[in-house]
Amino acid sequence: MRWTVLTLFPSVFDSICTASLFGKAVEAGVIQVRPVDIRDHAEGKHRSVDDSPFGGGVGMVLRVEPVARALEAVRADDPAVHVVLLTPQGRLLDQARVGELAGHAHVALLCGRYEGVDDRICGLVDEELSVGDYVLSGGEPAAWVVMDAVCRLVPGVLGKAESTLEESHGAAGLLEYPQYTRPREFRGQAVPEVLLSGDHAAIARWRRRQAIVRTAERRPDLLARADLSEEERVWIEQLGRVPGRG
Ligand code: SAM
Repeated sequence: MRWTVLTLFPSVFDSICTASLFGKAVEAGVIQVRPVDIRDHAEGKHRSVDDSPFGGGVGMVLRVEPVARALEAVRADDPAVHVVLLTPQGRLLDQARVGELAGHAHVALLCGRYEGVDDRICGLVDEELSVGDYVLSGGEPAAWVVMDAVCRLVPGVLGKAESTLEESHGAAGLLEYPQYTRPREFRGQAVPEVLLSGDHAAIARWRRRQAIVRTAERRPDLLARADLSEEERVWIEQLGRVPGRG
């Protein structure tokens, strides 16, 4: 999968592209990341990319011309590229959208700065995406979030041991069950006995129930939409942990 990142800070992506799982996928050639410096598309002696907002107000605005030229160069190179503007005003990123993005062969992420990009850029992008209801100083951390989450779903990136099937926000729509490793006891807290039993069916049953309880307690909004059997719905209702029951 190809990523193009349009940014004023291309060097930020040097460390991202060598770190951890993402770095391994880049090294293996499964993921390609090409940062594009928006400033390379600015004109004039000072290669200025920002200006003060029309109508007054604080801060600066990223000018539309250099960003448009940078985007047009990316589209000229690959007309099938899917262009995403990162903005706190965009659609909220969730696992379903992550899955859809993983279906694109080439995604370009446009990172804003200052007070954002001149709004006339919106007509040149395919979608606007937010990574959460908070404001970052720039789109670069958001780009890393999007690339990392999508990369995990690209075939060949995760090993079998790191399957995404049972993870939080996975197919069942539940949070993941609690995980433990050595030591068996930590400051008086023992690992649940069933996990040491070697009884795989009992472990699977325990994990499923823990995932349901955990989701009910921490994210009742997710539980309402989760893929539960009738028996499981009755069971969690009896525990008094259905949404709205506290
Ligand atoms: N003035 C803008 C507003 O109030 O909507 C915020 C601009 S923000 C300081 C600068 C840049 O950071 C944005 O153009 C965007 O690219 C990025 N950014 C900030 N928060 C983000 C979020 N939650 N999701 C995605 N990108 C974000």
